[in-house]
Amino acid sequence: MTTPDSSPLAPTLAGRLAEVRRQIGETLADCGRAPGAVTLVAVSKTHGADAAAEAIAAGQRVFGENRVQEAKAKWPALKEAHPDIELHLIGPLQTNKVREAVALFDVIETVDRPKLAEALAEEMARTGRRPRCLIEVNTGEEVQKAGILPAEVDAFVAACRDTWKLPVTGLMCIPPVDEEPAMHFALLAQMAKRNGLDEVSMGMSGDFPSAIRFGATHVRVGTAIFGARPAVE
Ligand SMILES: *Cc1c(COP(=O)(O)O)cnc(C)c1O
Repeated sequence: MTTPDSSPLAPTLAGRLAEVRRQIGETLADCGRAPGAVTLVAVSKTHGADAAAEAIAAGQRVFGENRVQEAKAKWPALKEAHPDIELHLIGPLQTNKVREAVALFDVIETVDRPKLAEALAEEMARTGRRPRCLIEVNTGEEVQKAGILPAEVDAFVAACRDTWKLPVTGLMCIPPVDEEPAMHFALLAQMAKRNGLDEVSMGMSGDFPSAIRFGATHVRVGTAIFGARPAVE
């Protein structure tokens, strides 16, 4: 994996983090958006608490994890030490893990089906803890992929708001790996806009500058900050 401009990765985590931040700033300036318009979600999945702590020491405060169990082992102590950390769930959520997810995460980016929305609503009502919710959209309409189909997004957003009273703030997508992501980014931004949603989570290590040009407010970057992950996840 290379960074978008194919420059070699900096030798230290702090250096790589600074380089990603620099590219985010440069891209925002380039397309005339405000300097703070994009939040960097540092994706620390598969990397240990030591790597997360290194990123925290370098000033990073927003992190993404894709597994509830892994996050539970890594984050409670770090969050206690740094109460301003914001933890995003970016992987699939099973309904039997909703209780743990609502307790630990500040943002759940992968609300992708009615049954999950209902379970989240129940748990939020029970505990009073209300992590922000993003709806995952299957922009590529891939059969094996989670997410609401584009044609069903407006109705699902409305149901999340009106029926389940979830704090829905945005949309997220993971474009098909074998396609140019630009049209998926454009589609997601357009769907967020027409539903009055402010948060648009799209773009990863290989394509975050493009996502920013299309209006991303959150980019989820792992490899370009933490280095390569083990091949099998
Ligand atoms: C792993 C992951 C990322 C980060 O991917 P990189 O290519 O390592 O930056 C972003 N979003 C989701 C949903 C992921 O699972």
